[in-house]
Amino acid sequence: MAYQETKKLLMVNPVSKRFSWGNVHFPSLGLPLLAASGPDWLDIELVDEFQTALNSYPYADLVAISVLTAAAVRAYEIGDHYRELGIPVVMGGMHVSALPDEALLHADAVVIGEADELWALVLDDFKEGRLKRLYSSTTKPDVSLLPQPRWDLVRAARRDQTKEPIYSVQAGRGCPGGCTFCNVPDFFGRVYRRRNLESVLRDIEAIGRSRLLMVDDNLLAGRDFARELLSALKDLGKEWFGLSSLAYLDNDEILDALAASGCRHLFIGFETSSQENLAEVGKGSNMKRDYAGIIRRLNERGIRVIGSFIVGLDHDTEAVFDEMYDFIERNDIYVPIVNILTPYPGTRLRTKLEAEGRIISNDWSRYSCDEVVFKPKLMSPETLKERHHGLSEALLKRSRQRFSSGTEKSYGIHDF
Ligand code: SF4
Repeated sequence: MAYQETKKLLMVNPVSKRFSWGNVHFPSLGLPLLAASGPDWLDIELVDEFQTALNSYPYADLVAISVLTAAAVRAYEIGDHYRELGIPVVMGGMHVSALPDEALLHADAVVIGEADELWALVLDDFKEGRLKRLYSSTTKPDVSLLPQPRWDLVRAARRDQTKEPIYSVQAGRGCPGGCTFCNVPDFFGRVYRRRNLESVLRDIEAIGRSRLLMVDDNLLAGRDFARELLSALKDLGKEWFGLSSLAYLDNDEILDALAASGCRHLFIGFETSSQENLAEVGKGSNMKRDYAGIIRRLNERGIRVIGSFIVGLDHDTEAVFDEMYDFIERNDIYVPIVNILTPYPGTRLRTKLEAEGRIISNDWSRYSCDEVVFKPKLMSPETLKERHHGLSEALLKRSRQRFSSGTEKSYGIHDF
């Protein structure tokens, strides 16, 4: 066999405030999945900065960086460092897919969209010394038979070996929703593309843990597949945390199947109770839904609700902060997350606010959902920031009281 020189690939998931969950760490799935299709001439080191900061920059022949908006500044810093050493840098992910020209100031190549089927070509071009500036595909990759993610690379890089992170499994991609603030429909498409059930179960078994994150943005969107999946999960005896749109939760049969499958926490984007705001941001799936009834029926089945809300929408007055606190308290939301509306690149919300001249900051490090980067309609940016901060503090105090009083069973996202 001919001698093949091994090349070192460094894959980095840069840190941002945006997806920090306090004590719980959910390593990102994207890079371990790409690493799984790496050829044998590559020696791969994977650094997820949420668990291990890239303090000293290790040697690499090629650097691949996954970029979300809130981590773009850090991603560009890492890219600049390696490019100054003459080491080629490839970037991919939602942020650089929306702004490839910006990314190319800090990278040699940018992969636009889902990288799965482009990655082999990128590596081949690197090996042959002919890396292109842009890699893009007009079709969505076939996700039915994705490889098994290389979580071993994440485990190997963990500094604190005593704390086990929660690993993710993806059953499909895409969301039929059309929320204007979200880049999932544009990036992954508005059709839910399911995987082959056996390969999903293979990935769950390979993780070898009793708890996991089903990371689909809208797990129940492929209705029939969701039923098959929940039934298979029931037999595995795992506990899991997932994400779902309210649109699929109005039905006792699916709620029973969720509970029986081991679902213990469900992240739900309520966003707002205002029908005008829901219409404004294209979240028709939440309109006229019985929020309180759905939360109660989930709680009755032992499924805790991680509720996500947005403030600063165009119909929000200052009354929204007190109303939101009351709603969260009244409906026993287990973990509330209140975000300031944030116009991420690549979203229809951003296009609209740009056209209206309402973007006030392009400092990506401030796109962390706790800063105001646009002009709200019915309050000043300062008021929005201050009142959001006050609400967040009040909710934090509420959580501390609940979890320290002993009335709340100490089992949740805090120790999931
Ligand atoms: S339902 Fe969720 S994932 Fe789908 S577009 Fe809306 S916010 Fe995005």
